[in-house]
Order: sequence, then C-alpha cells, then structure tokens
Amino acid sequence: MDETDFFDEGALVGVLTTQPLDRILDYKAPAGGCWLGAFVEVPLGPRKVLGVVWGKGRGDWDISKVRSVIRALDVAPMRDEMRSFVEKSAQYTLTSLPSMLRLATRAPGLSDPPSMRKVYRFGDKEPDRQTDARKRVIETLKEYGGLAFTLKELSEMAGVTSSVVKGLVKQDVVLEENSPRDLPFQRMEPDHGARELTPEQEAAALRLREGIESQTYGTTLLRGVTGSGKTEVYLEAIADCLRVGRQALVLLPEIALTAEFFTRIEARFGAKPAEWHSGVTMTERRRIWKMVGQGGAQVVIGARSALFLPFQNLGLIVVDEEHDTSYKQDDGVLYNARDMAVLRASLCGARVVLASATPSLESWANADAGKYERLELTSRFGPAVMPDMRVIDMRAESLPSGTWISPTMQAAVKTRIEKGEQSLLFINRRGYAPVTLCRACGEQIGCDHCDARMVEHRFLKRLLCHQCGESKPMPEECPSCKVEGKLAPVGPGVERLAEEAQAHFPDARLAVLSSDLFGSARALKEGIQAIAAGGADIIIGTQLVAKGHNFPLLTLVGVIDADLGLQGSDLRAAERTFQLMRQVAGRAGRSERKGTALMQSFQPDHPVIRAILAGDEEGFWKAEAAERQQAGVPPYGRMAGIILSSTDVQEIFDLGNALARSDGALRQIGAQVFGPAPAPIARVRGRHRVRLLVKADKTAPLQAALSKWIGQFKIKGDIRLSVDIDPQSFF
Ligand code: ADP
Ligand code: ZN
Repeated sequence: MDETDFFDEGALVGVLTTQPLDRILDYKAPAGGCWLGAFVEVPLGPRKVLGVVWGKGRGDWDISKVRSVIRALDVAPMRDEMRSFVEKSAQYTLTSLPSMLRLATRAPGLSDPPSMRKVYRFGDKEPDRQTDARKRVIETLKEYGGLAFTLKELSEMAGVTSSVVKGLVKQDVVLEENSPRDLPFQRMEPDHGARELTPEQEAAALRLREGIESQTYGTTLLRGVTGSGKTEVYLEAIADCLRVGRQALVLLPEIALTAEFFTRIEARFGAKPAEWHSGVTMTERRRIWKMVGQGGAQVVIGARSALFLPFQNLGLIVVDEEHDTSYKQDDGVLYNARDMAVLRASLCGARVVLASATPSLESWANADAGKYERLELTSRFGPAVMPDMRVIDMRAESLPSGTWISPTMQAAVKTRIEKGEQSLLFINRRGYAPVTLCRACGEQIGCDHCDARMVEHRFLKRLLCHQCGESKPMPEECPSCKVEGKLAPVGPGVERLAEEAQAHFPDARLAVLSSDLFGSARALKEGIQAIAAGGADIIIGTQLVAKGHNFPLLTLVGVIDADLGLQGSDLRAAERTFQLMRQVAGRAGRSERKGTALMQSFQPDHPVIRAILAGDEEGFWKAEAAERQQAGVPPYGRMAGIILSSTDVQEIFDLGNALARSDGALRQIGAQVFGPAPAPIARVRGRHRVRLLVKADKTAPLQAALSKWIGQFKIKGDIRLSVDIDPQSFF
C-alpha cells in the first residue's frame, strides 16, 4: 500500500456495505483518515452498518448530504487481492457484491473494541510444595518459554484441573494477566515431526515445493489411491509454505468430523492449526478472522467458507477430496469452493493442490488439457494394497422380499466375524425406509411442505422430510384413507439394514454410522473412534463412511445397492457412482490385512459397474469425457440453472415463460434456454419452484449474457430468483 491508498479526513470515499443495496455509497473519511480497504462503520438511515472502503467516492451525491464514516475498525484493511476476489467471485456466481462481502465478514463482533481475558504465564518461581500435577504445569510453561495460555489451554496441555493452576497463581509461580482476547495462534514448526517419504512421495513433494517457492499461481491435481500418502505429501507443501513465510489453507469436506486429521497436523507441526467451520464458537471465529488478517494464524483447516477469510499472505490452498459434492454450496450464495479456490489463488500468486483418489471429471479434464499439473501416487503406503473387487449378481441370489443382504454377502461377513475382523455394509440412504406406503389405499406419505416423501426414522420413531427437516410422529393410521395398521415400509435405509444384519448375526456387535444418529459432531467423532478401536464387528453406514476415517480392522466392504446412484437424470450420475464405489471400497484393508469389496448389483454388466471392477480409471474417465463432450455439457460446455420460487405457482411459471420468450441476449452468444419446468424438487418449505436451464459453449461469455437477460425483468413481491452456475444437482 502506498500513500495514494490513503484518504485524509473529509475526503470522499466509496463504501461497500453488507446491506442489500445495489450501489456503493459515498461517505467522508473519518477523523484521522482511512486506508483504501479499511473496514468501517457507517451510518445508514438510523443504523450503523459494516462496510469496506472500496475506492474513491463517486461525488454524484449532494455533498452537503454526504455523511461521515463513523470510524475505521481496528482490523487490517482488506487487501487489494481480496477486493478483487470479492468482485470476481460475485461476477462469476452472479451474486450481489453485498452478499459476497457478507461471506467475507462472517465473524461476529468485528466492530467491538478489543476486549480482555485472563492468561497465564510462568512467574519464574518454585512452589512451596511440589506435586506431580504442579510439576506438569511448570514444565509445560517452561517448555513454551514466555508464552501465555488461557486457563483452559494450560490445564489441558498439562493434564491437570484448573484448580491446580489457580493454586500456583496464589503463590506467584504462575502469573495471571489480562491480555487482548484475540491471541495469535501458536507458531507452527515446519521441521517438527517431519517423516521420511517414499521415493514416489518425495518426487511429488519436490514438484510442489518448486511451485511454492516460485510464489506464483499454479494448480496441481494430486491423485492417488486412498492411503497412498496424499496427505503426507501436501503436509510437506504446507511445511514449504511455512518456510517461505506464507499462510496455508486446507479445505476439507465434513470438517467437523476430522479429529484424526487435527491430531495429525499437530504431530507434524507441533501446534494446533486454526479450525474454521460452522461448529466453531463465535469468539473463536472472530479470533481466527483477525489473526488470519494480521499473520497470527499460519495454517487454517476449514470448511469452504474459509476461502473468504482475509489472509495476509496466502501461499497455498489444499482442497482435499476435491471431487466432494459438499464443496458446492447449495443454499444462499451458490459457489463451488474448488473453483473459487483456484480463483483466489490466481489473484494472490498462491498454489492450489487438489487432492483426490477419484478426481472430478472437471479437474481430470483440466489436467488433461494441461491447465493443471498432474501428480500421481500409484501405490499405497506400507503393505496395504487395493482390495479385491467383485460383484454379486443379484439376479442369481435368492433372498426373501424385504431383505437385502444376499447369501453370498452373509457368508463373507460370517468369515470376517470368525477371524475377528470388521465388515462394513454400505447403503447411501439415511433412515429406516425411504417410502412409507399404505397397503389399503396405495398412498405414499409425503411432506406437507415439499414435493418429497417422508422418510421413516425408526430410532426417532418419526417421519422426516430430508428436504426441509419437517418431522412428525409415525402415524397409526393412513393420513389419506384413515385405515389403521396398514402402513408399511418400502425399501431399505441404513436402520433397516442394521435390523436385518442383527437378525442374521444376533451375537455380532453392530454400529450404525449415519450423520443423523449422533446428537453432535463430538458424539459422532467419539463413535467413529470407538469403532476404529475395534468396538464393532459390523458397521452399517451411509456416505459418511466413505470419507477419510481409518478403520484398521476393516477387511470387508459390502455395497448393498451399487445401482442406486445410476438411476435418475443427473449428468454426473456415472461419475458419482464411480467415485463413491471406489472410495467405499478403499476403506477395506487399509493396514496389513488385504481387503475385499463386494458390490450387489442387478446390472453387473453396466459399463460403470464394469469400470469400477476393472479399476480402469483412465479408461472410465476417457469414456465419460467423450460422452460429455458429445453432449456439450460440463466440463465441455457451460450450464446455468435459474430457479424461480414463490408461494404462487402461476406467478413463477408466468415469469419463467416471459424469460424464455425474451432470450435475445442468450441467443446472441449462441446459448439455448430450456424450460421453465418444475424444478427437480418442485416444492420446498411451501414454496413452489420452477427452473430454466441455460446451455452454452465452453467459451461463451455466459455470465454477462445472463445478467443482461435477467436484467430485463423486475423480480417483484414474493418471487425469488437465484442463478446457479454449473448446477450440480439435477434431481
Ligand atoms: P491419503 O491421504 O492418500 O489417503 P495418507 O497420507 O493419509 O494417505 O497416508 C495413509 C497412511 O499411511 C497414514 O496413516 C499415514 O500416516 C501413512 N503414511 C503415508 N506415507 C507415510 C510416510 N512416508 N511415512 C510414514 N507413514 C506414512
Ligand atoms: Zn419437507
């Protein structure tokens, strides 16, 4: 920043606020002046709101009416690169600037004056009487030199109760001091806990190091089977990043579940990283937000929204499990964190590492086209090898109706139990049964507010809508024909599968892993740890188990319905099934014991099932790419979804039709519009939804055409319009 970025008191500045206004407002710089990018508090009508000095004022406002910025906040100004990131991501996703700025200021109490809290440091004295607990406190403090800790941190690190610390405070052995609430994070040591890499890992780490040291933008697709050491390799890239004095961000899906991962980072760098996700306390959020901005947090492990943190000097973004669908935000601002990571890195000269065992076709295509560098890890670390994969042809199995575990699968589970090993039965459906049918009238119980069936959850004794979360007690009688005792579950969910497994193996210890069965993220973490330690013989799980948890005793993975994901009209159905099956199969045999994956399928000759079995990833991607290229769909063409919603269904169809008729702006760029049609889920929370789909060539300036097209219409009253660039869900 130079002095031209400084505004003297009274100078006109343009302030972008987080309020839904469609323009940047003029204000006068406050007493003492302010920097470009300063976070400020400004008056807006009777209120005070948060904003950022975005540039010079426009001066097209009656100067006598221009009000003054109330004050500049005591936080680092927003950097140029962050402002362009906010602008460019808003343009890309067709989101308003204020909504984007809200994402970038998601830390409560930013404008509060810095408050104080008590911290504890060594007083350089010995206590009158030494105890083991006291010794541990003193040793901990000595080990960290002059550092101060909160009571909670110190007692946890020393493994003592807080009264032990308080006792030492009385004798001045430990000093109690007031300190600003938002403390920097402990330094991470790049050389702490470094491990020896295999030659293959070393080669990959070296390539990444060259990129980090160049301090220029570049994206690398790091591909390798589960257990090949991708994490180990990108930890080295983080170390390199620390060595050159830059910050690193690691994005993880399902962040709240990855206790194992945090332990690993701490073991590698000798300190805890900052942890950013929706489960983190408000004060911790504010601390991270501020510390990231002033360099007091070197490594952040976060959910997708961590991309909008105000890093002071970001050198590396790792997107782990880059293919994961949860990177696409599907509520509020619709963005794909993987794409935004690449955008952000390109603006600040950082590297991106996309890590996955089963990359998305998008990333595969980018690597294939030479836009991304590609690094491969081909073998698993240590003795573990990829499991044997076999299909169970369900047409040849005989099983009673209402059951799903084939005799072949049962036999395989039985062998594992006898050997003291674990089996995982996988079904990607929560609840007891996906459909509740009335045998008297044929009614399927649906949600009152959504176009979706209610799913029975037997543990909760309730019906749940997986769209809106509405729930009601399981009724005795059919809501439609009022006949009692005729409601029957149809199809399997994870709970029903557990019931069946228990019936086959009454003495086995069963664990059901489904996100809704644990009260909190912590309970889930503990559940997973208990299972990993051998606390179950059979694990029944949903998609949740496909993610990075390590179960060393697991040697059999049984997929109950490998065909499930292949139904429906999603253009990524094949890709997703392929990825999910590979990942789930990859859970088996992660340690010394060889694993087996068995997939139940009614169409064992389906090309996707065959590709999964053959393990021919390259072949699968090539075939899939050719098909998408042919159809002109992503990543070889561009798509956007326009969702209109309202409580009045006629109103949105009228608007949808009007949009479809006035498609000049789209035709100009050779784009086509389809619809309006009822959206895949035509009603959510009582609001009707229709969708238009726009398809364009890869190189067409889609965003500009879309805003011109939509801009012709005023969106009034109850109607809401949202644009979804590169929609991920089609069902
Ligand atoms: P991925 O991220 O590809 O699934 P990980 O990095 O988690 O693989 O490695 C799998 C397991 O092997 C982990 O338990 C890890 O600690 C271990 N491992 C991998 N590489 C090494 C290495 N070079 N030295 C020691 N342990 C390793
Ligand atoms: Zn609902």
